[in-house]
Amino acid sequence: MTNTVKSSNLGYPRLGEHREWKKLLESYWQGKIDEAQFNETAKKLRLINLKKQIEFGLDIVPVADNSNYDHVLDTIATFNLIPTRFGSYDRPLTLDEYFAVARGNKDNVAADMTKWFNINYHYTVPEFDNTTPRLLENRWLKYWQEAKDELDINGKPVIVGPVTLIKLGKLRGEYVSASSDINQLLEQILPLYGQVFKELQAAGVTWVQLDEPTLVKAVDEADVEPYRRATEYLNEVAPQLNIELQTYFDSIDPYQAVTKLPVQAIGLDFVHGNGENFDNIRKFGFPEDKILAAGIIDGHNVWTANLQEKANFAEELRTLAPKLWLQPSNTLLHVPITKKYETKASPELFGGLAFADEKVQELVALTKKLNGDDVKSIFEQNTAALEALNSSQARNNKVVQEAIQHLSQERFERDSKYAERSKKQQASLHLPLLPTTTIGSFPQSADVRAKRAAWRKGELSEEQYNDFIEAETKRWIQLQEDIGLDVLVHGEFERTDMVEYFGQKLAGFFATQNGWVQSYGSRGVRPPVIFGDVDYTEPITVKESAFAQAQTNKPVKGMLTAPLTIINWSFVRDDIPRATVQNQIALSLRQEVINLEKAGIKIIQVDEPALREGLPLKQRNWQDYLDEAIYSFKITTTGVRDETQIHTHMCYSDFEDIISTISGLDADVISIETSRSHGEIISAFEDAHYDKQIGLGVYDIHSPRIPSVAEIADNIRRGLKVIDHNQFWVNPDCGLKTRNEKETLEALQNLEDARDLVFSEISSN
Ligand code: GLN
Ligand code: ZN
Repeated sequence: MTNTVKSSNLGYPRLGEHREWKKLLESYWQGKIDEAQFNETAKKLRLINLKKQIEFGLDIVPVADNSNYDHVLDTIATFNLIPTRFGSYDRPLTLDEYFAVARGNKDNVAADMTKWFNINYHYTVPEFDNTTPRLLENRWLKYWQEAKDELDINGKPVIVGPVTLIKLGKLRGEYVSASSDINQLLEQILPLYGQVFKELQAAGVTWVQLDEPTLVKAVDEADVEPYRRATEYLNEVAPQLNIELQTYFDSIDPYQAVTKLPVQAIGLDFVHGNGENFDNIRKFGFPEDKILAAGIIDGHNVWTANLQEKANFAEELRTLAPKLWLQPSNTLLHVPITKKYETKASPELFGGLAFADEKVQELVALTKKLNGDDVKSIFEQNTAALEALNSSQARNNKVVQEAIQHLSQERFERDSKYAERSKKQQASLHLPLLPTTTIGSFPQSADVRAKRAAWRKGELSEEQYNDFIEAETKRWIQLQEDIGLDVLVHGEFERTDMVEYFGQKLAGFFATQNGWVQSYGSRGVRPPVIFGDVDYTEPITVKESAFAQAQTNKPVKGMLTAPLTIINWSFVRDDIPRATVQNQIALSLRQEVINLEKAGIKIIQVDEPALREGLPLKQRNWQDYLDEAIYSFKITTTGVRDETQIHTHMCYSDFEDIISTISGLDADVISIETSRSHGEIISAFEDAHYDKQIGLGVYDIHSPRIPSVAEIADNIRRGLKVIDHNQFWVNPDCGLKTRNEKETLEALQNLEDARDLVFSEISSN
């Protein structure tokens, strides 16, 4: 007799089909509703989310995956592990106390937030200094009970596992990594998890999903030890409560050690991780007594799965692991909710999209198929939809495909080496020592945003809008000249977002109407969908750059977003390799770079801010990723003459990891965000020899505080200790679009004055 296969989910998006959840949070913050009203609506939204999944026919429904802001924050708030500046509690936090941690209040800055693995979701960073762990409330039981009472289901509470919680947190200002710290913290918080588990067991909960995604970073058996300690403990205190140990975002290296852990189900990701989880199952088998919770539907992309292929794969898995659940690869929190509002998508594209709701339905259909139910018409429809998308014109651009095939025959290098180029560039640009510049964007004022909104609604004509953008650009060129900056920018007033804007101009992209995904708190983003062959059909930024250049005798930098950043901040088609899509974008941008040069632009900056954050989770996969980044950057930037100066810009710290990549890009000038961790970056340059020009950001644009001349001068002097003054640029550490005009002008004037000060020191030596 074969076991029945079950469908299961790991988590569902919080935002609501019409972003009701976002509106709820914001109306509470604005004081329009009180805590009781908030709770009432939040409950309604939770129940809607659960009900949908039940109605789709999902067998195992996740509960307590909801949150009022972030699930890691919920966990630390429940365990009294919030940063001590926000106090210590012996009762559940009120909504105000909870939001204070997330957003800061008049006395305290918000808790740190950072990216969740390699996903564009931000979690609240736990800080383990001086806190006394204490269970303030069993939120997992509370939400399980709510689902039971209201909808009569025995849901599966989702809980961030203790080891992951510790490893995502900081102790003494640094991420917890020493095993002695992990073990000590684990012994402190395990009893709290124990209490939660005991109460769940007593209430009649059958399954709990223990999320331990940090397991994908474990290298060997020794790294699995804390997870073993935790699961043994929890299994012992609540022996009747079944644990699904859930991993995601990559494969498991110490596979055998993990599958031996004392849990009743193991959740593995079969979508990401290059098929390694599957290889391991084939090689080492899977324990007979455990359930394999197989993540076979992509939980961080938006494409319809090929159901027949997935069904065949699941059949194969079942022969190796007879007790089987079918799941998404990770929580569906990271995809939009439903495609039903995407009325502007072509029929071929629409048929190929699957957001959270459609993914749940795919899982249900696959489960039925494996259980022998009739799903013939669903499968037929699926085949037809995929065929339509794959044979669509958008995916069969012969010119683009041939260009990709010819890539290997071409050499993407500048005509001359840097030393040679830099001489020609200097002869053409005549820049002073320690040139000053900015990173690209200037304040997107209320006026700029209002005008754009009016234009989108049709209240402002195309011409009126263009006139406005030009007037704003002209005004800022003048302001930059007044300050005395050496290399000017046009200000990026035409773009809301550095990826969205390029998506709108390139073929192969689709801008969703309602494809919102939570980024942090109430903040959602709508990543562009790259669905077809990417092609250059019109100039993207040439008009804006040329206009700006016409207003001044100083050089104006052209400003583009590099291929990898575009890819990392979009949903990317999965029928061809990611690297191919990246190179298609690169080939398009190459034409734009050439067109900018033709239009008289002498300096072109190609931004790659997402390079660092997109690094694969496993270090052994870094090199391939970085090589691909270098390759696509070079495709983009090598079509110009030696005289044209190529810049790039990157955000975030930890540059030690990628310094050789930075050098490999062969950009003439790089500016990097450094002001938050100046020390570390400087030491990176002490060890590595860097021969090109570099701008280490000399002030932090993320804060409204205006840095003084003395402070900026100090930062310049510190940089000059490790970098020769002939290579050094002076600039803020990132774009200025979030700052206001007054702050920006004052800060830039101080930057200019600081440069002059240091310049005179150098000259008098
Ligand atoms: N050129 C962009 C800007 O100035 C760079 C933004 C970024 O680094 N994220 O806004
Ligand atoms: Zn930046």
